[in-house]
Amino acid sequence: MGYMPVIGLEIHAELMTRTKVFCSCETGFGSERNSHVCPVCLGMPGALPVLNQKAVELAVSAGLLLGCEITRTTRWDRKNYFYPDLTKAYQISQLYAPLCLGGGLEINGRFIRLNRIHLEEDAGKLVHERNVSILDYNRAGVPLIEIVTEPDIRSSDEAVEFVERIRRNLVYGDICDGKMEQGSLRVDANISVMPEGSDVYGTRSEIKNINSFRFIKRAIEFEIERQIGVLENKGRVIQETRRYDEASGETFSMRSKEDAHDYRYFPDPDILPLFISDEDIAAIREKLPEPPHIRFLRYTDSYGLSAKDAETILSERFTADFFDAAVKNGADPKAASNAVRGELLRCVRESGGNEIPIGAEDFTKALVLAAKNAITQEGLKTALSYMFFNRADLDTAVKVNNLLVSEDAGLIGTVISEVLAASPDIVSKYKDGNQRVFSYLFGQCVKRLKGKALPATIDAELKKGLSEL
Ligand SMILES: [Zn+2]
Repeated sequence: MGYMPVIGLEIHAELMTRTKVFCSCETGFGSERNSHVCPVCLGMPGALPVLNQKAVELAVSAGLLLGCEITRTTRWDRKNYFYPDLTKAYQISQLYAPLCLGGGLEINGRFIRLNRIHLEEDAGKLVHERNVSILDYNRAGVPLIEIVTEPDIRSSDEAVEFVERIRRNLVYGDICDGKMEQGSLRVDANISVMPEGSDVYGTRSEIKNINSFRFIKRAIEFEIERQIGVLENKGRVIQETRRYDEASGETFSMRSKEDAHDYRYFPDPDILPLFISDEDIAAIREKLPEPPHIRFLRYTDSYGLSAKDAETILSERFTADFFDAAVKNGADPKAASNAVRGELLRCVRESGGNEIPIGAEDFTKALVLAAKNAITQEGLKTALSYMFFNRADLDTAVKVNNLLVSEDAGLIGTVISEVLAASPDIVSKYKDGNQRVFSYLFGQCVKRLKGKALPATIDAELKKGLSEL
């Protein structure tokens, strides 16, 4: 019998605020253990939380980018449970009136619905070292949004693509830095399987805290197979919380899965409800960047880029912003796209950074020089990489590398003679009718002419030179 996977995700994203959500401790990652703590985030008796407005603003921004309805009167609830990383023995979260409702994203023609986005505080961290476990509360109270989908996802690939899209929106909006390796973005996956053709969901298990795209795919695939195995052997899938083990690639049972009522949620009496007005929402919307899926339409429909090229440029916000600045400056979109995806992304990878330190104006001028054949395509690459790594302007890059095409007939003739004289074997192969060796000779000429002559000229002159031999 065939089975259909049913997957829902809970994506936890740490917000890029300077301070925590209910106190003024800093949020920085990688600081000395327990150096960013105070009575509020340590849950001392009598300490009172004060809501961080910036956290609300970023959570609303996420809701607006993902097409959610913003709740006008939002409240906070206590989720009660004990664990050493949670000193208060409750987490301040939102069950009854979450900040954002509905919304969603289209993935390959299928709309994946969001149920809600709510704001909550992160817990501390347990660091296990040999025989001891160390408690680090720096993360306790860091603002977190939880993005909860409906069970609309049908495969591990779709889950990965969905998380990638969510991450891209959050990074574009300066809402979350998206660093999964640092735990800023973590995913819980609810998975069940049902017989194909059925519309009754099976019992689900939840895999907690998956922290890379690769593991999302593997954990979901393992869990689907495991559940199918249980059902095929006439067993029963039980509702439970499972852990994905990265080393073995398997999931293991942690505890039976709790329902919301197990947490005895109740409204937090220390924090007043928050009223959000139309003006508040308009002010937040005003500050939002153009969302990536809207840019995608502009790139493909107005600029005529292919979907694949548009996705490459959009994969990081700094590349998309650079591209947009160039086009705004008058650069030809296709030429700009080629240069960004080719030489500039190569430079970015080589530098290991996340910026393109070239002015939009110089970049546009370099494209124009290449379009006018004042520099060759090879010369363009040289100019871009020189500007990139030396923080130089275009004039300097062209001058230092001597890039202007001169089409000097004397120089071209000399170089061609030299190349032909240096490879008598290849020349005789060509003379014997082997046309394929031409590209070798051509390449040698291009290399020696260092962008001083156009490819078409070299091609014509080289053929002429060969015919005269
Ligand atoms: Zn604090």
